[in-house]
Amino acid sequence: MTTLGTASAAPGEMDTGRLAVGETRDGSQFGLPVAVVNGADDGDTLYLQAVSDGDELNGLGVVQRVVPQLDPKQLAGTVLVVGVVNYHGFQVAEHRNPIDDTKMNRTYPGNESGTSSERIAAATFEVASRADLVLDLHQGSTSRMLNEARVRCGPRHRLHDACLELAKVFGCGYVLDQKGPDGQLARAAPDEGIPTIDPELGGSVGWDEESIRYGVEGVFNVLRHYGFLDGDVELQPQTRATGFDRYGAPSGGVVDFEKDLGDAVEPGDVLFEVTDVFGTLKAEVTADQRGIFWRARRLPQVATGEYVCSVGTDVDEY
Ligand SMILES: [Zn+2]
Repeated sequence: MTTLGTASAAPGEMDTGRLAVGETRDGSQFGLPVAVVNGADDGDTLYLQAVSDGDELNGLGVVQRVVPQLDPKQLAGTVLVVGVVNYHGFQVAEHRNPIDDTKMNRTYPGNESGTSSERIAAATFEVASRADLVLDLHQGSTSRMLNEARVRCGPRHRLHDACLELAKVFGCGYVLDQKGPDGQLARAAPDEGIPTIDPELGGSVGWDEESIRYGVEGVFNVLRHYGFLDGDVELQPQTRATGFDRYGAPSGGVVDFEKDLGDAVEPGDVLFEVTDVFGTLKAEVTADQRGIFWRARRLPQVATGEYVCSVGTDVDEY
């Protein structure tokens, strides 16, 4: 019997339930929606989580499609799922947990007697710690972004190669291989010996069909390659960036992009222009380094210094 919160499944069965974390402001118990798919055959454990950032819904779209397609009778090993991590952020469609105004993915491995976010992180990290592989499904928040997977442990980590392999198997086509900030699940779980990636399934608000399909395919690639399901995965070369240059607005106004997601960028290429309310050009921003146009703000209006776009740099293939 494999148990996760109130979900319990014998070999060859699946169940859904709730993982209790605490109470809401009115004193009601709340729990994160969880699923256990317990394979008929023995094998490894995959942990899949979504909506760590409360406005990033494409991962939920992936969970919603993957779980009904999993037949525990055909599965070797176990798939553990937390479908919505940032419970409070999800309720109000916000990125951060509004209870403590914190980004969940800066609080791992969490603290079971800490803040709201730290407690949720501790509860989900305990699940992640039971796994052999972890997928933490994200997207570029409300910015538009390539479909990519992030390796966050850093190049000197003993699990760096294993995380890179997991990203290649997931197979979005693009990988950002850069040590992440403290508190990311994709940094904390490798420290426990668990290869982890943070797939970034596109971006922008809502529910993006193409990005959800990338995510579903990625999860099934992982299940096949690592022996949870029958079948082989033909690994494709991934375009990898190890640097990530962010560009801000030199003046206030309206941004007009000269590059699109995935475009090659050469030093000196114009990335975007800023015009005023009446269409007069105020500024032109050019690339400092060669790379790939990776991420761009969704709304055109900017204040001086506001984030506009990112270019993945130091690009190679692996
Ligand atoms: Zn995120």
